[in-house]
Amino acid sequence: MKLDDALQIRDDVLAGRVSATEVAAAALRRIEEADGLLRAFLTVEPERVLERARDVDRQVREADGNLPLAGVPVAIKDNISTKGLRTTCGSRILGNYIPPYTATAVRLLEEAGAVVIGKTNCDEFAMGSSTENSAFQVTRNPYDLDRVAGGSSGGSAVAVAAGMATLALGSDTGGSVRQPASFCNIVGLKPTYGRVSRYGLVAFASSLDVIGALAHNPRDAALLLSVIAGEDRSDSTSSSVPVPDYLGAISKPLKGLRIGIPKEFFDPGLDAEVKAIIDEALKNVSTLGCDLTEVSLPHTPYAIADYYIIAPAEASSNLARYDGVRYGYRCARPGDLMEMYVRSRARGFGAEVKRRIMIGTFALSSGYYEAYYGRAMKVRTLVRGDYERAFEGVDLLIAPVAPTPPFRIGEKVNDPVAMYLSDIYTVTANLAGIPAISVPCGFSASGLPIGLQILGRHFEEDTVLRAADQYFRAFPVAPRALRV
Ligand code: GLN
Repeated sequence: MKLDDALQIRDDVLAGRVSATEVAAAALRRIEEADGLLRAFLTVEPERVLERARDVDRQVREADGNLPLAGVPVAIKDNISTKGLRTTCGSRILGNYIPPYTATAVRLLEEAGAVVIGKTNCDEFAMGSSTENSAFQVTRNPYDLDRVAGGSSGGSAVAVAAGMATLALGSDTGGSVRQPASFCNIVGLKPTYGRVSRYGLVAFASSLDVIGALAHNPRDAALLLSVIAGEDRSDSTSSSVPVPDYLGAISKPLKGLRIGIPKEFFDPGLDAEVKAIIDEALKNVSTLGCDLTEVSLPHTPYAIADYYIIAPAEASSNLARYDGVRYGYRCARPGDLMEMYVRSRARGFGAEVKRRIMIGTFALSSGYYEAYYGRAMKVRTLVRGDYERAFEGVDLLIAPVAPTPPFRIGEKVNDPVAMYLSDIYTVTANLAGIPAISVPCGFSASGLPIGLQILGRHFEEDTVLRAADQYFRAFPVAPRALRV
């Protein structure tokens, strides 16, 4: 059974052509077959999955509730809380943590009839771009097992790409949904900041974090977003802007849409092969009746430095809660309270998380606060202003997602600055809070997936999805065989 179309599965389950239990069993079989090599999942509890699927089948039989995701298997990134189901954030410090509550996004998925298949691997606390910073395992790219899946939502991207789940939730603080989607030949949508409730998303950098959608095509991403978007009393930063009908508007022709190409995203750091594929995609876009013009986002060169002050600063404060007292890892037999904190955190956190806590604590410390965090916030305003000005003249922006195709496992892991620099085309959307999507647009000569990024104005996910859907259907990427 193919698991690559959520709308189809939902229609089939609602029409009784297939049961949610059969779909769930197919997903579990695929995990059994492929995940030994791919290592996308951290936790799968087959009995729980099948029990839940039987419950959905009962609801379908009894026409109990509105079920826009009836029987659709969904994978959840392991930094999103699931009541009773282990949620590690890819960290040893939460290795045995079982949340007492469920994230709003997951609750909405379940109310819509989705079946949670399991929890997916990620960089520890979502800090990374390759899923190599997980304390537990490295997730492999299904198109080349020696390459990274991207990150930090690498497990969620691979779960979808390899047919182990139909949809997945990830989180995007600086690119963690879009970049792994691009590396795995699937669609990844980062919504506007505040469009989806963060309640139950374990905090990394609270002013940047947003839960995003991974799917095989833009329609499925639209369907998923329509279920999880909206205001939530449990997250004061969730927005009350009305949620439009993302699926209803998706086919509206693009004719007349003005599209900007930000010249700073085509800098010398962009790999020549990626550039050629993106240039081709831009030509294709112009045949859809859109007007393309070059625009400038002049503060882009400062974005990495800016993001890597703000994100660690917020992380250092958010991660202060892991102290071994109420939950999470606690060292054995500490001599006193201070020793318990020190040893629990020293053993519980991995190297990248410690690096960020140190950078962030330094940037926030008295005497340095203005020079680092204060200035970084000013630069953030400038980056946001760049987008505001660009969107006065155009409706969307189109750019690459990442400067290179998926890199080799181990290639950047000992060079944090190289890893950080690979986020250059994704972090600005988070600094500005705008929505952006990655859509498959080709393969490199060596068979590695490349994604196209489409960015829109705040709360204009409908336009972003519409452009993505029409590009995706007009210029489909020829399918390639997976390695597993
Ligand atoms: N790669 C970026 C970082 O390491 C973004 C991660 C994310 O979006 N969670 O911070």
